[in-house]
Amino acid sequence: MAKVLCVLYDDPVTGYPPTYARDSLPELNGYPGGQTLPTPLAIDFTPGELLGSVSGELGLRKFLESQGHELVVTSDKEGPDSEFDRHLADAEIVISQPFWPAYLTAERIAKAPNLKLAVTAGIGSDHVDLDAAIKAGVTVAEVTFCNSISVAEHVVMMILSMVRNYLPAHQIVLDGGWNIADAVARSYDVEGMHIGTVAAGRIGLAVLRRLKPFDVHLHYTDRHRLPEQVEQELGLTFHASTQEMVPHLDVVTINAPLHPETQNLFDDKLLATMRRGAYIINTARGLIVDRDAIVRALETGQLAGYAGDVWYPQPAPADHPWRTMPHHGMTPHISGSSLSAQTRYAAGTREILESYFAGRPVRDEYLIVDGGKLAGTGAHSYSTRS
Ligand code: NDP
Repeated sequence: MAKVLCVLYDDPVTGYPPTYARDSLPELNGYPGGQTLPTPLAIDFTPGELLGSVSGELGLRKFLESQGHELVVTSDKEGPDSEFDRHLADAEIVISQPFWPAYLTAERIAKAPNLKLAVTAGIGSDHVDLDAAIKAGVTVAEVTFCNSISVAEHVVMMILSMVRNYLPAHQIVLDGGWNIADAVARSYDVEGMHIGTVAAGRIGLAVLRRLKPFDVHLHYTDRHRLPEQVEQELGLTFHASTQEMVPHLDVVTINAPLHPETQNLFDDKLLATMRRGAYIINTARGLIVDRDAIVRALETGQLAGYAGDVWYPQPAPADHPWRTMPHHGMTPHISGSSLSAQTRYAAGTREILESYFAGRPVRDEYLIVDGGKLAGTGAHSYSTRS
C-alpha cells in the first residue's frame, strides 16, 4: 500500500470555513479547444469548498484510506526537520500545489527511494527538478488546463488595475480621502495600447481572447506559431522572440513555463529595451524575471507598474523587496487557486491517482515526465538542462 504525502497551504487564520460566500459553482462542459474536464470515477467533496488547504486535503482522504493507502497532509515543507522531509523518505507519491510548492530538488529526490509519482495539483511543475525526476524514473503529472482560465481572468484584472491605477485609488477611499488628482495622475485607458504575451499556450491565448474586445493591438511570441486563422481572428502580430517583441509593447504579460529557456529572461538588459512606462504582468513564475532588476526599473520609471502573483521562493519572506517596491500590484500566489479552480484540480488529482493505482496510463495531456523523459504536455512546453 502506498504512502501519499500531500503538501498543502495552511487553513485560513480564522479556521476552516464553515460557510462560503456563494452556494454553488457554474457548470462547465469542457475547456476551450475541446479538452475534457477532469473525469475521476467519483469525488468525495462538495464543489466550491476550500480544498487546497490542510483541512481540505484535496478531498482525497476517504478515497485513499478506503483502498488501504496512507495519506499524510502537512504544510510544513522547509528544511531537513520538516514533516515533508521526514515523510519523504518512504513516500511513493508526493502531491503539492504551485501556490505552496514542495520543492522536489535533486537532493530530496535522491533521499526518496520509493518515490514513483509527483503530482502538481495545478499547473507548472518547475518546483520539481525535472532532470532529477527523469534520472530517477519518477513520473511527474499536472492537471493541465485546470486553472488556465482562472489565471487568464487574473491577468486581465491586473492589466486593468495597473493601467487605470485602481489599487492606489481604492486606498484613498480606505484612508477616508477624496483626492482625485492623486488617483488620476497615473491613470490611463487600455484602449489603443499594444499588449503582448510571452507564450500563447492555454493561458496566453485565453488572455489574448479576453483582451480582444478592449480594442487594443495584440502581440505574441511562442516557440510554436498559432494557426493562421486564430492570428487573423484576433488580429495578432507574431514576433520571433521576446527580445524582438517587447520594444513594441505598452503591456507585457508573461505566460510561459519556467524552464532553462525562460529563467531570468527579463533582466536589466531586456527591461532597458522596453518602452518607458511599460507595465509587466507576471503570473507565470517569479524566476522568469530578475527580482532586483524589476525593482530598479520601477524606481527609475522605466516600468510604470509590475503586478502578478508569483514569487521566489514561496512563501515569499517578509523582507522580499517586491512587497515594498513602488507601483506594484502583487498578490500572494492565488490566481490559479480560486475555489472554482480547486474543484477542478482536486478532481484532476483524483483522476491521476485512480489511473496510477489501477495501472492505467495517466492522460497524456497531464504528463510532464514519464518513462525517463519529458512526455505529453511536458514534451511540448518544457526543456531540460541536458
Ligand atoms: P501551456 O503548456 O498551455 O502553455 C505554455 C506555453 O509556453 C506553450 O505554448 C509553450 O510553447 C510556451 N513556451 C515555452 N517556452 C517558451 C519560450 N521560451 N518562449 C516562448 N514561449 C514558450 O501552459 P499554461 O498556459 O496552462 O500555463 C503556463 C504557465 O503559467 C505554467 O507553466 C505555470 O508556470 C503558470 N501558471 C501559473 C498559475 C498561477 O496560479 N499563477 C496557474 C497555472 C499556470 P510551445 O508549447 O508552443 O512550445
